[in-house]
Amino acid sequence: MREVYIYNTLSRKKELFKPVTPSMVGLYVCGPTVYGDAHLGHARPAVTFDVLVRLFRHLGYKVRYVRNITDVGHLEHDSDSGEDKIAKKARIEQLEPMEIVQTYTIRFHDAMRRLNTCPPSIEPRASGHIIEQIALVQKILDAGFAYISNGSVYFDVEAYNRKHHYGALSGRNLDDTLSNTRSLDGQEDKRSPFDFALWKKASKEHIMRWPSPWSDGFPGWHLECSAMSEKYLGEEFDIHGGGMDLMFPHHECELAQNTASRGKGGVRYWMHNNMITINGQKMGKSLGNFITLDELFNGSNKLLAQAYSPMTIRFFILQAHYRSTLDFSNEALQAAEKGMKRMLQAAADLKNLKAANETGEATEEIKAMEENVYAALCDDLNTPVALSHLFDAVKVINTVKEGKRSISAKDKEILDSLFTTVLTDILGIIDENFSNSAGEKKIIEGLMDIVLQERTRAKAEKDWTKSDFIRDSLKELGISVKDTKEGTEWSL
Ligand code: ZN
Repeated sequence: MREVYIYNTLSRKKELFKPVTPSMVGLYVCGPTVYGDAHLGHARPAVTFDVLVRLFRHLGYKVRYVRNITDVGHLEHDSDSGEDKIAKKARIEQLEPMEIVQTYTIRFHDAMRRLNTCPPSIEPRASGHIIEQIALVQKILDAGFAYISNGSVYFDVEAYNRKHHYGALSGRNLDDTLSNTRSLDGQEDKRSPFDFALWKKASKEHIMRWPSPWSDGFPGWHLECSAMSEKYLGEEFDIHGGGMDLMFPHHECELAQNTASRGKGGVRYWMHNNMITINGQKMGKSLGNFITLDELFNGSNKLLAQAYSPMTIRFFILQAHYRSTLDFSNEALQAAEKGMKRMLQAAADLKNLKAANETGEATEEIKAMEENVYAALCDDLNTPVALSHLFDAVKVINTVKEGKRSISAKDKEILDSLFTTVLTDILGIIDENFSNSAGEKKIIEGLMDIVLQERTRAKAEKDWTKSDFIRDSLKELGISVKDTKEGTEWSL
C-alpha cells in the first residue's frame, strides 16, 4: 500500500499515516449546526475530507467516516452563552426546533450531493446521544476535572492544565493567558472565564431540555463530538478533521474532554482545512459578504457575476492546498470553470485519439506524470500539484490532437486512467453534462455507441433516410455528430 503523509495540527509536522487498525481508517469530521443554509464555508471541509476518504478507499483502506449533525447545544456566543442557535431560529420562524433541524439537514444533504461528496458512513445527531453525553460528564467529574455549579457542570480548565496542557492543539499557553485576564464577564457560575460548559441548566423558557443528575438541561456544544467519536470510532481513532475556525475552542475542548475522561487524547492526527475568504475578507453575515451554496449554484447573490456549477466550486477548492487560505472572487471562479472545462474536454478527446503504436511501452514522461499525481495526493493531499500534473496530461493530449506528436496504446491507457481514476474517482470531478453519476455516464456512452453503429450501418447500406433521421434526432437533443477519418465523434 502506498504511504500517505498527513500534516498533524497537534505535532505541527507532516507525519507518516499509521492507522490504529491495519487497512482501516476511522475519520471524524465536525459537521454543521443545522440552523441555516449551507454556505461557502461548508463547502471546503466537505470537499477536502471527501477527497481524503476517496483517496484512502482508492488505496485499499476501509474508511469509517463519521460526520455529526449539531442539533442542540451550540449557543450564540463562544459556544457557552446566549441562546441556542437552533432554538432561536425556531422562535423567530415559529416552528419546532426539530422542524428547523429537519429542514436544514435536508438542504445540507442536497448541497453536499450536488458537490458530489460521498455521504458519511454514520451521521449521528447530538440530540440522539444525550445518554452518552451525560455518562461522559460523569466520567470527567469523577476524574476531578469538572465541577457542579447551580445545576450546570463546567470543565475545570485550571485543574486540567496542572496535569495536562490546555492549548496543546491551538498552540496556546494558559498560564500566560490567565495572568492577563481575570474578569468573568458576568458568568458567575464559572470559576474561571476559561472554563467551558459540559452541561447547562436550562432556563424556564429553554425548549430543548433533558433530565440529568444535575438539572433539567442540555449538553455543552463541545461534548457531543467527544461522546460520538468515542462511541463510533473507539477510544483511540485515526483522524479528526474540521475547519481551522473549529480548532479553538471547539477542538481544544474536545481534546481536553477526551484526555480528562480516557487519559489520552484519543486522536492520532488532527487535520484542519484553512478558511475561504471573499475578496480578501473573512466571510460573515455581519460583513454583508455571506454567500450560500444555493446562491452560488443559481447566481442569486449581488456579489456573484454569474451562477457557478457545483463542479466549478469543487474544482476551485481543489486548486488550492487545503491548508492555505482560498480567496473567493468571480475572476478566480471563472478561471476555475475554464480550466475544468479544458480538462474535461481533453479527457473526452482522449477517447477519440488513435495510438500510434499498439504494442509499444509507455514513455517515461507519461509514467512520471502518473507517479507524480499519486505522490502529490499522498503528500498531505496536495491537490493543486496533482491538478497541475493533470494539466500536463491535457497538454500532451492537445498536442497529439493537433498531430504534433504521437502516443502509444500504453500511454493512452495511463492517461485514460489519470482522468477516470484520479480526476473522477478521487478528486470527484465529473462532467455535469452527463448528470451526476459516473454510472450514468457509462450508460450514456454505451447507448451512444449503439446509436452511432446503427447510423454507420445505415450509411453503408445507403439508407440515407435512416442515417439522417439519427443525426437530426441527436441534434435535437443537443448532441452533434462529426465524421472523421478515424470514425464518428460526438459531443454535447
Ligand atoms: Zn465537533
